[in-house]
Amino acid sequence: MAVWDDVVGQERVRAQLSAAARDADSLVTAEAAGEPAPEASKMTHAWLFTGPPGSGRSTAARAFAAALQCVSPDRSLGGEPGCGFCDGCHTALVGTHADVEVVRTDLLSIGVKETRDLVRRAQLSPAGGRWQIIILEDADRLTEGAANVLLKAVEEPAARTVWLLCAPSLEDVLPTIRSRCRHLTLRTPPVAAVADVLVRRDGIEPEVAAASARATQGHIGRARRLATDERARARRAAVLKLPLRIEDIGGCLKAAQELIDAAAEDAAQAAEEIDAKETEELKAALGAAAGGRMPRGTAGAMKELEDKQKRRRTRTQRDSLDLALSDLTGFYRDVLALQMGSGVMLANEDVRDSLDRVARGSTPERTLRRIEAIVACRQTLERNVAPLLAVEAMAVALRAG
Ligand SMILES: [Zn+2]
Repeated sequence: MAVWDDVVGQERVRAQLSAAARDADSLVTAEAAGEPAPEASKMTHAWLFTGPPGSGRSTAARAFAAALQCVSPDRSLGGEPGCGFCDGCHTALVGTHADVEVVRTDLLSIGVKETRDLVRRAQLSPAGGRWQIIILEDADRLTEGAANVLLKAVEEPAARTVWLLCAPSLEDVLPTIRSRCRHLTLRTPPVAAVADVLVRRDGIEPEVAAASARATQGHIGRARRLATDERARARRAAVLKLPLRIEDIGGCLKAAQELIDAAAEDAAQAAEEIDAKETEELKAALGAAAGGRMPRGTAGAMKELEDKQKRRRTRTQRDSLDLALSDLTGFYRDVLALQMGSGVMLANEDVRDSLDRVARGSTPERTLRRIEAIVACRQTLERNVAPLLAVEAMAVALRAG
């Protein structure tokens, strides 16, 4: 079925969701005909999609939303919901369906106020007469207060409301919320399946698609970015040179500084693309006079936007740094594979010379310690430690091995 095409390597989840979409459809049809709702149903009001980054949680949620909104006439002939072409499917997939709200945040947390707005929205009857769907892509970022607001809505949903929550793992969501959701686990899709989707959907050359899928180890979004974005390729190349540049302390500190600078640059570029436009829009909305003078009483709103933009920069910078560290982990994992002679497919075959050099110059024990140093650094960064200090400590630990 067409809406499921992008849900890569998740056969079980696909089967569960399409069964639910079928039952949901029977329910809508029965109600429209004034008949009683079918008794046993695989459809429910709250779902929780979990899976490692890149496994396609939000893609699966969107596909499900599309199948629920499918209005294809083929279905009276026995067709499955989720044709991918009808107005319902199409608008749900591209994000313009009136009854599908996708909440994605650039911020580190989702607060009570935003969640209250969403809950209010969830109470509305669906304009299209089918389902009112809210996709919360970062349910792990709900503050505790926000989660409690959401809990009430998930406990007593309106008849046609569907909540689709996404999070990396079950532990990232409050137990009270997750116990009220049907849980679906996505897995990291196989490298070949990711390459296939890049070729089929994005028209990327098979060779480039295969190399990108391998380098990112089944992370679809990153694989696509690597295949299409020159800048992302340059970043990765720089990160993979790091293991050869940390022979002395000076080299370590320099490499650490460069990682931080690159992340800051990514954040600055992203900010440049969004911030100015956002600020202009808010100024216009608040009634700025010609020449930019702001009316009285609007300073608070402007300050709020500035704070939001600042938090977003911090998050972009962190995400970018985390990406670099994950590439670095991949490098040492390949080194370990070479040292153990395990013959598994290398993620970074394109830098085979460097891998060989580092593998020959150390032992599996040292490589493991290096991987641990990177893991420790990523954990430290999550705790809001100054990034430069954490990365310097990591670079020095990598050198010591
Ligand atoms: Zn359809």
